[in-house]
Amino acid sequence: VLRLESVRKTYGRDTVVLRDVDLEVPPHTVTALIGASGSGKSTLLRCANLLEEIDDGAIFLDGTEITDPRTDADAVRRRIGVVFQAYNLFPHMTVLDNITLAPRRVHGVPRAEAEERARELLDRLGLGGRAGEYPDRLSGGQQQRVAIVRALAGRPRLLLLDEITAALDPELVGEVLGVVRDLKEEGMTMVIATHEMGFARDVADQVCFLDGGVVLERGTAGQVFGEPQHERTRQFLQRII
Ligand code: ATP
Ligand code: MG
Repeated sequence: VLRLESVRKTYGRDTVVLRDVDLEVPPHTVTALIGASGSGKSTLLRCANLLEEIDDGAIFLDGTEITDPRTDADAVRRRIGVVFQAYNLFPHMTVLDNITLAPRRVHGVPRAEAEERARELLDRLGLGGRAGEYPDRLSGGQQQRVAIVRALAGRPRLLLLDEITAALDPELVGEVLGVVRDLKEEGMTMVIATHEMGFARDVADQVCFLDGGVVLERGTAGQVFGEPQHERTRQFLQRII
């Protein structure tokens, strides 16, 4: 679904954030990006969603180069759902309006159809009956689930999740991770930046360890967590687990 080839990203003149990053995300698989703070996980996701321009290399979505300057970036973003750490729901809009805003305004989906899809997703994520509420009436975990529904509303090919549990109280983390597990069961292709190693180990088909903008190590969860090849990976895992 997603492929990065020798992607290089710099900020300013000499901050290299991604160096020659290669990544292949096959359909219906989950890739976990792990690594220390500042290693480039969020930047990689932002590049994949064309929120950042890359300096070198290429990114492909379903075989089409999306980093080609002639690409319609909005069309690409329509095929990719994103959820970030802070749920970023509009406080003055109901749950239903938060979810249907982009489908209706950006994608031209008729209101009735957008709302039907939204209600179906809310039901699936255990939020049926909350459609008319305002975000501040919901818990953090519920708000984050609404953000996931919003990302799914456009029927994306790919979901990018960046530290989606980082802002949550520990007791709310489980419900959001449960949703990600369910989406995996349904075959959704996902790339997840996370500090939750237990979760990465459990859900990821592929784990990539980023170190200073380099994919230092990649493999199955069993390989990377069970028998890390690099000293840096071992140190990182020792510190975090
Ligand atoms: P964390 O685990 O803390 O979320 P991360 O792995 O997601 O970290 P990034 O946010 O991708 O790391 O940042 C990678 C590097 O890029 C950091 O050194 C950061 O300071 C730098 N960086 C990120 N955004 C910008 C920006 N807009 N301008 C300049 N430097 C930036
Ligand atoms: Mg980050």
